[in-house]
Amino acid sequence: EYAIEARDLTYAYEDGTLALDGVNLNARRGKVTGILGGNGAGKSTLFLNLNGVLRPKRGTVLVDGAPVRYDKKGLMDLRRRVGIVFQDPDDQLFSADVYRDISFGPVNLGLGAEEVRRRVAWAMERTGVTALRDKPTHALSYGQKKRVAIAGVLAMEPQVVILDEPTAGLDPQGVGEIMRLITELRDGLGITFLIATHDMDIVPLYCDRAYLLSGGKVTGEGTVEELLTQP
Ligand code: ADP
Ligand code: ADP
Repeated sequence: EYAIEARDLTYAYEDGTLALDGVNLNARRGKVTGILGGNGAGKSTLFLNLNGVLRPKRGTVLVDGAPVRYDKKGLMDLRRRVGIVFQDPDDQLFSADVYRDISFGPVNLGLGAEEVRRRVAWAMERTGVTALRDKPTHALSYGQKKRVAIAGVLAMEPQVVILDEPTAGLDPQGVGEIMRLITELRDGLGITFLIATHDMDIVPLYCDRAYLLSGGKVTGEGTVEELLTQP
């Protein structure tokens, strides 16, 4: 039922900052789950624990009901299944051009050339960046970079896609395009989305359920109607 779950997830940085403190949450398969919280709430730390970049000090991450294994194979598998789109696309675009950027993940998976081409063509098509395929990524607009970053994650054919502030810095049309894409991927392919956002306009429209995160703890959860009526 749940594509990804955190149970009692606890993480402290080297300097002792307790960034996550006993977090319990789940993202239902094929739904969009919102993570709401201000700066420093723990959203980025949560996401890095969910895709294995950080290893919990206590607690468990489960993908498709199975606890993550922190050996090499387990982590490879996790990163294939759980993709992250960072808030700033410059943090994840580093190849010379759009095509090479989107193909980086599939190539790294060791897929054959034909399969890589198929996946990249599909991901470019879905995100509307096909015409940009030979452009250097640094020459793209912010909104275009954002879509290329999403395409790179989609080309991995993940089950779960985590997006950190997907609408930040976009004009209303760009927001509409990104959120429409997410809805299509949810409904058409059953991809599970976790979205961190400050944007209270998109939460009721697009999130099936949401969690409030504050000081590394879950301080509220429920449907959007429930959250809006909580004190
Ligand atoms: P809780 O025990 O936290 O109150 P449950 O997991 O029992 O919540 O789920 C309550 C209802 O909400 C059920 O219908 C469940 O399928 C649904 N639900 C739970 N988590 C999510 C989610 N992340 N996205 C969408 N629906 C969810
Ligand atoms: P958010 O993404 O919600 O803004 P973060 O997960 O980035 O929250 O931060 C949670 C807490 O962890 C904050 O107190 C932040 O200052 C702290 N923190 C984040 N990264 C580090 C780090 N590398 N070293 C020490 N503390 C950190």
